[in-house]
Amino acid sequence: MATLGIPQNTIAVLQKYNFNFQKRFGQNFLIDTRVLEKIIEASGITKDDFVLEIGPGIGTMTQYLCESAREVVAVEIDKNLIPILGDTLGAYDNVTVIHEDILKLDINRLAEEKNAGRPIKVVANLPYYITTPIIMGLFESHVPLESITIMVQKEVADRMQVGPGTKDYGALSLAVQYYAKPEIVANVPPNCFMPRPSVGSAVIRLTRHAKVPVAVEDEKLMFSIIRASFNQRRKTLANGLNNSPEIRLTKEMIQESIAELGMPLTVRGESLTLEQFAAFANIISRKMKEN
Ligand code: SAM
Repeated sequence: MATLGIPQNTIAVLQKYNFNFQKRFGQNFLIDTRVLEKIIEASGITKDDFVLEIGPGIGTMTQYLCESAREVVAVEIDKNLIPILGDTLGAYDNVTVIHEDILKLDINRLAEEKNAGRPIKVVANLPYYITTPIIMGLFESHVPLESITIMVQKEVADRMQVGPGTKDYGALSLAVQYYAKPEIVANVPPNCFMPRPSVGSAVIRLTRHAKVPVAVEDEKLMFSIIRASFNQRRKTLANGLNNSPEIRLTKEMIQESIAELGMPLTVRGESLTLEQFAAFANIISRKMKEN
């Protein structure tokens, strides 16, 4: 099978199967061999690796993954793509296509079965509307992960990488940086896809930390605090927390905790670093226990 990264080959497959793009599944297929090579290079895949691909489409990137990995599992939601993948991946005996919604798949079990529970690599050109639930789902369910190399909307890639004091900084930045080291490895313009998306894209690699970078006693509480402080962006940290049903502390206790952190009462969540959120969560956790 000729590489699908060449536009004429993708068009030939789409015509052969009379394929209709499904907007609801965020289908924009890659048609640029340089971008495909860049993703493979950035993911650092070797013949020892088991790779999970999310959303293979017609199998464009899957072909490259089959060439470079030991074994590939590709999970695709659109049933109309399953026979096409049987055709475009027919030459490879190291790939399994699963027809399923990735958000419903037990990835921990898959990693156990296919990689004896050792860390897996995830590669995906994601539909933009499920980027955050997929990434957070992978991290929070503690799937054994080495890295996630993904194409996302440019703006979302920026959000994952930035620190305090920038307009893109938020709950996603903190969550990603708590679990992994994010690095944007390529910017990808709309003309590298068929059909063209309306926004620019970027490939970002998230390399999981061997050990989380901050000492936090109650991870869940820290993320509740982070969410509460970014839910109301224009509000101060104190007001954000006062309005949160998850933080069971009086206004005075919240103010005391902020003072204990060494911050003014007018501080906004958007100016705190991950280390400060962790320290603050530890203070709040102690106060909630005392209370
Ligand atoms: N990887 C292909 C490429 O680069 O050309 C296709 C990328 S396209 C942006 C996203 C793919 O994810 C589509 O094939 C779509 O059907 C699939 N998809 C969308 N939602 C999904 C879900 N919840 N689970 C699995 N696949 C999904």
